Amino acid sequence: MEKVHLLGFTEDEMKSFAREMGEAAFRGKQIFRWIWRGARDFSQMTDLPAGLREKLDETACIGCLDVLDVQEDEKDGTRKFLFGLEDGNTVEGVFMKYRYGNSMCVSSQVGCKMGCKFCASALGGFVRDLTAGEIADQILSAERYTGEKVNHVVVMGMGEPLDNYDNLSQFLRLLHEQGGKNMSYRNMTVSTSGIVPAIAMFADDFPQVNLAVSLHRLTDSGRNSIMPVNRKYPVDELLSAADRYTEKTGRRVTFEYALIDGENDREEDVELMIRKLRGKLCHVNLIPLNEVKETGLTGSSRRRAEEIAAALNSAGIPATVRRELGSKIDGACGQLRRKAQEKQLPKI
Ligand code: SAH
Repeated sequence: MEKVHLLGFTEDEMKSFAREMGEAAFRGKQIFRWIWRGARDFSQMTDLPAGLREKLDETACIGCLDVLDVQEDEKDGTRKFLFGLEDGNTVEGVFMKYRYGNSMCVSSQVGCKMGCKFCASALGGFVRDLTAGEIADQILSAERYTGEKVNHVVVMGMGEPLDNYDNLSQFLRLLHEQGGKNMSYRNMTVSTSGIVPAIAMFADDFPQVNLAVSLHRLTDSGRNSIMPVNRKYPVDELLSAADRYTEKTGRRVTFEYALIDGENDREEDVELMIRKLRGKLCHVNLIPLNEVKETGLTGSSRRRAEEIAAALNSAGIPATVRRELGSKIDGACGQLRRKAQEKQLPKI
């Protein structure tokens, strides 16, 4: 019999689960709290009767991720994790230290359907959605490994979160649960390649969660050529969806713009950005492209990125160049996984 995965349950769902086992609801509350305090094993749940712990051990499990590999940048504290899932698939997560606390970048799918030309995750195609518990376990596993707490979460790892909407929603609600992680929605950010109808849903369901939109190009022909999703949801529709998000929520949208040398960092690209983004409640995050050798694309220089940021700022559009964390360990997104697939890492 397959074991029930408890990490994906909210506190109420855990209470129902306890009742279904013939136990009092408060046992569910106890289990929920233990899990979110980091318990990995039912034997740690010392205020549960021994008989119940045994029963749980037979029928249920908590998390299911293994840490397969960790790359650390000792200078800035960034740690890049390769997680193994129960079915043998792998995903990445990145733990980062900022002045305001620790942030974790999590994956939402194994692989991705979106096919962006510059992205390592697109290369292997789509495998499957992650469950809410598998997304959450990336955080608990990183906390356990580092001995530190995660205060902010960005859903910016492998996969398209808005293409896995139900599991993403459950994950965000789980993090917010008072008896668990109790993370404010304001400390969560979801990044999308631009699935317009899902952005509208997201604004309704999670008006306090931050939205990041991966823009990268502002002409339809240009964006079509690097992001196939644009053929379905063109630039202007995407920008309108972002406008509706800010109207509804009063929150600033982050536009991510990965700078590709000679492709989207020319004067005309900057002028178009200024024309289209001026007046919006937004922030532009410029990221010199991380090189993925298979794509043949190169990133713009740091200097060019700074120039573009300055041009946007003087046009009244807040823009920054993303701080390069973990520069020593950095391959582009998804590359740790690709390397591991090549050399078959053992468990640690
Ligand atoms: N699918 C979502 C979230 C995951 S990708 C999205 O598209 O937003 C997270 C961010 O990394 C996106 O902005 C994506 O465009 C960017 N990205 C992907 N590959 C990159 C690369 N090689 N260099 C820099 N940024 C990259």
